[in-house]
Order: sequence, then structure tokens, then C-alpha cells
Amino acid sequence: MKRTFATFDKASGFSCREIQNADESEDENMKIYISADIEGVAGIAHWNECDKSKADYKEFAKQMTLEVKAACEGATEAGAREIWVNDAHDSGRNIDHSLLPKNTKIIRGWSKHPYGMMQEIDSSFDASILIGYHSYSSSAGNLLAHTMSGQFQSIKINGMLLSEFLISLYTSNLEGVPVVFLSGDEGICDSGRKFSNNIKTVATLKGVGESAIGEHPVKITEEIKENVRLALKNDISKCIINMPNFYKVEIEFKKPSNAYRNSFYPGMKQVSDTKVVLEVKEYFEVLRMFVFILGF
Ligand SMILES: [Zn+2]
Repeated sequence: MKRTFATFDKASGFSCREIQNADESEDENMKIYISADIEGVAGIAHWNECDKSKADYKEFAKQMTLEVKAACEGATEAGAREIWVNDAHDSGRNIDHSLLPKNTKIIRGWSKHPYGMMQEIDSSFDASILIGYHSYSSSAGNLLAHTMSGQFQSIKINGMLLSEFLISLYTSNLEGVPVVFLSGDEGICDSGRKFSNNIKTVATLKGVGESAIGEHPVKITEEIKENVRLALKNDISKCIINMPNFYKVEIEFKKPSNAYRNSFYPGMKQVSDTKVVLEVKEYFEVLRMFVFILGF
């Protein structure tokens, strides 16, 4: 169900209120996709807090669950009938599904489909929501900043530093599904609004050197719930972005041996000891390359 914004129509005589009421009854059928990560949840400030094998992890897996729960509640209040949640950090087994509302399905683990953090997204969804996202490799916005893997120094797409947010934004739009909401560190929220003027964001923390500064986690979850609700009540079609028709991907590895190995991917060119470049017309080919380069 795709909505358009209602405005007062002098000719027909319909008031805004009447048209919005009609929209609200349609909202009851929304199908929503949520992709969730952990390195951008409220207050997170150390790699141990993202690592299932460490004692510090539990508290932040719980916060990830609570932020997803808040997004589900906001979406349900806005009229979501069905919500799919992709647990998209590391093992893909972080969220406690029993704490989420009953109208949710969860994707745990990784299928190895090139859509990755957006696995199972398709045109049957009305909108996407991204929770716990973080700044990209080489960014100062989060001390846990990275893009997909620690083996990359940086990745650029069409000259812009690539974040997991941008990968998910393009993947969702490839299926015609607008991304209406993003939460994560302040850096990724700022970057998100540059790519999508109408996306709603909630910043969970601000990275300063090797520290994270943030508001109270309960306040953050309340803001997520309210802003997801508002995002879905807005004209979600305004969050559809134009996809580029050409993709130049530049990958700078930390180790020269990784650049050499991956230079053998079809179409890939090695341009320096540590850097490879791929130029393709279809975004899916970018995603396909990532699957093989990352060696999922
Ligand atoms: Zn992660």
C-alpha cells in the first residue's frame, strides 16, 4: 500500500481531515521491514559490547532488542499489520524475539543472499526502518565505525564513502520500498538525512575520540517509538530515492594481499597495492561482489 499526501482540494470540497481519515483506515494493512544492528544502539562504546562471547555483550543485546521493540510498537500504532525483523549483527542471533510484539517475524542467522542486512525485502513491503546503524569505515562518528568488515580501510561508491546505511537504503529502494526511519550514532543520522531529505532519524550517541556520549536509553527508545509512528503517518512515498544508473566501487583494503586476491573477481581492477575498483550498471552486481569479496 503506497500512500500519497492529502491536501485540501477546493474542486472536490474534501477537507484534509476527511482524506486523512480515509488514509488512516488503509494504514491498518501496512507491512514493515526492520533491519537491526548493534554498533549504533544507545550508549555502546566498546567492541566487547558487540561480542557475544564477552560478558559486556548482554546489556547491549538487550538494548538492541528494546530499540527494535520500540520501533515495532511505533509501527503498530501507525497501523502495521505485519513486521519482519532482520537481526543483522554478526551471528544474526542477538534479539530476544519473545520481547517483541506478536505481529513480528524474525530473520536469525544469514542466508548468504546478496541482500544481506536486508534479506527477504521485496516489493510486498510498504516501508523499511533501520535500527542501531553506525558510521562507516574511517569515520570519526563512532569508535565502532566500520563498513561490513574490519578488513576494509574504506569503501567508496560513486566517490562517496559507503556506509551499511547506504547499502541498505539502496537495497530497499531497489525493491521500490522507501526507508522512512533510521536510528544510530549522530554521524550516520547526519549522513542519512543527506541521502534522503524526508527520512526521520533518532541519534543514539555521539562519538568523540574513543568515547560515546548519549542520552538515557529509555528516553532513546521512547523517541524511536514516537518517530517511527510519525514517519509512517507521513507521506512515505516521499522517502523513495532515485537510484544511480552507474556504480563505481573503490575498495581500499588494510592488507595488500587482500587487494591482490580480490583483484581476480570478474571485472575488478587493482589500481594500487591496497585498492581495487569495480564499475557496474546494476546495483545488484555491487551486492553480488560484496558476498564474494567478504567470503561469507
Ligand atoms: Zn554490527
